[in-house]
Amino acid sequence: MTTRTNTHTTAAGTVGPVCEDCGRRGRAVHTDDGRLTLWDLARGWSTAPYPVGYVHPDGSTGSRFTCPDCNGTRGGHR
Ligand SMILES: [Zn+2]
Repeated sequence: MTTRTNTHTTAAGTVGPVCEDCGRRGRAVHTDDGRLTLWDLARGWSTAPYPVGYVHPDGSTGSRFTCPDCNGTRGGHR
């Protein structure tokens, strides 16, 4: 059994989103507290905000993210 995470942290200490559907990793940015907001995400990504420490049924915690591919072609931008 593996534990899913909704974010990944780089060696440089920046944090990026991980798509909850396909596991794709998005652009990593510096954050003050390790939390990503909508403004930290690359174009096309979306987030479903959850409190820090919230545990989802799949074992992941915190806010969840969806990549542009899984969001479809919202707005016609591909
Ligand atoms: Zn995806």
